[in-house]
Amino acid sequence: MWKRPLRSVQDTLVGIRGLEEIGCELLRFSVPDSESAELFGRIVSQTELPLVADIHFDHRLALRCLDFPVAKIRINPGNIGQADKVEELIRKASGKAVPLRIGVNAGSLPKALRQEKNVAEAMVKAAEEELSILERLNYHQVLFSLKASHVATTIEANLLFSEKYDYPLHIGVTEAGPLVQGTVKNTLALSRLLENGVGDTIRVSLSDSPENEIMAGRSILQSLGIRNFGVDLISCPTCGRTVFDVTAFLGKVHGYMERVSKNITVAIMGCPVNGPGEAKRADLGVTGSENQVIFFKKGKIIRREHADDAIEAFKEELEKF
Ligand code: SF4
Repeated sequence: MWKRPLRSVQDTLVGIRGLEEIGCELLRFSVPDSESAELFGRIVSQTELPLVADIHFDHRLALRCLDFPVAKIRINPGNIGQADKVEELIRKASGKAVPLRIGVNAGSLPKALRQEKNVAEAMVKAAEEELSILERLNYHQVLFSLKASHVATTIEANLLFSEKYDYPLHIGVTEAGPLVQGTVKNTLALSRLLENGVGDTIRVSLSDSPENEIMAGRSILQSLGIRNFGVDLISCPTCGRTVFDVTAFLGKVHGYMERVSKNITVAIMGCPVNGPGEAKRADLGVTGSENQVIFFKKGKIIRREHADDAIEAFKEELEKF
C-alpha cells in the first residue's frame, strides 16, 4: 500500500521503483479526490508496476481512473449510491477489461449486518450483497477481499467465501498492528489460508513502512515454500558465547541482500560452537571468531578476513553466485 498522499509525480515514481526492487508486484493507492486521480493517472502511465486505485463513494473518480492504464479498481458498489452510477462504472470497466476488487472490511459492515453474531458470516453476506449488484449487471471480472483485524475471523470469512465462490481472493489481516504483532497475525492467517489453496494476492497490513509490508509478505511466502525471492538467510540469534558482532554485520549487509535475487542460502553465525556447522551447510557461510571472519562456500573454507574487511569480502563472494 502506498502510504502518503499523492503530491509529486517524480518522488512517487522513485518510491515505486524502490518498492519494485524489493519485490512489490502490485501497489494500491488511495484516490480520495480529483486532484489525486489526475496525479495517479500521470504516475500509472509512467510505471510498469501494476497499480490499483482505491476509491470510495464518488464513482466519477473511478471513471476518471479508468481512463488510465490502471490494473484494478478497488471499490464497493454498495457505497457508490444509485444503480445508474454503478452501471456506468461497470460498463466502462468492462469495456476496458479492468477488474474490480470488492473489499469487505469487518469494521465497516453495512448497518443491517452489524448486529450479526457471527462476524465472518456477516462479512460473506456483505460480499454477496455487492456480488448481486455485479451479477445483475452480468459483470464477472471481479475479485474480493474479506478482511478483519482478528485472525480467526479473517480465516473463517475467507474459507466460507471460497467454499461458495470461485472468484479470486486478495487476502490479509487488516489493521494488524505494528511490525512484530502485525507480521505474526498475518503469518497465522495467510499460512492457514494459503495452505488451503485460498488466496491469489496478499498484503501484510502494518502500522509500518510499505517496505516492511513487502519484506514481511515476501518472507511469509518464501517460508511457506510458495515463492522464492532470493537469499534465504540463517543467522545466529546471539548469546553469551557470541564472539562476532552478528547484529552489526547483518545491519550492514541486510539491505544489500534484500536486493539480491539469487536463490541461495546464506548463514551468518557468531561463534565457533554452532557457527561453522551452519555456515558449512549454507551456500555462503560466515562465522566470526573475534577479529577474524571465516568464509565458507558450499562447506569449504574459502577465505579468512579481518573483521574490518569482512563486509566487502562478503559482497564479493555473494556476487560470484
Ligand atoms: S551460533 Fe553460537 S553465538 Fe550464536 S546463538 Fe548459537 S551458540 Fe550462541
